[in-house]
Amino acid sequence: MLERLACRCEGCDRRLNDERRMLSFERGGHVRNAYECPCGAVTITVTRG
Ligand SMILES: [Zn+2]
Repeated sequence: MLERLACRCEGCDRRLNDERRMLSFERGGHVRNAYECPCGAVTITVTRG
């Protein structure tokens, strides 16, 4: 199973990688990562921790 899919900005479809990650936290057994795109949009992904 792929746990680390490349995610894309919800605003401009730019690919987001770890360099864009500004926040990561675990809640209820899932890891949530927030990525801030240069366009200003914030995309949040949820993966199993
Ligand atoms: Zn963007």
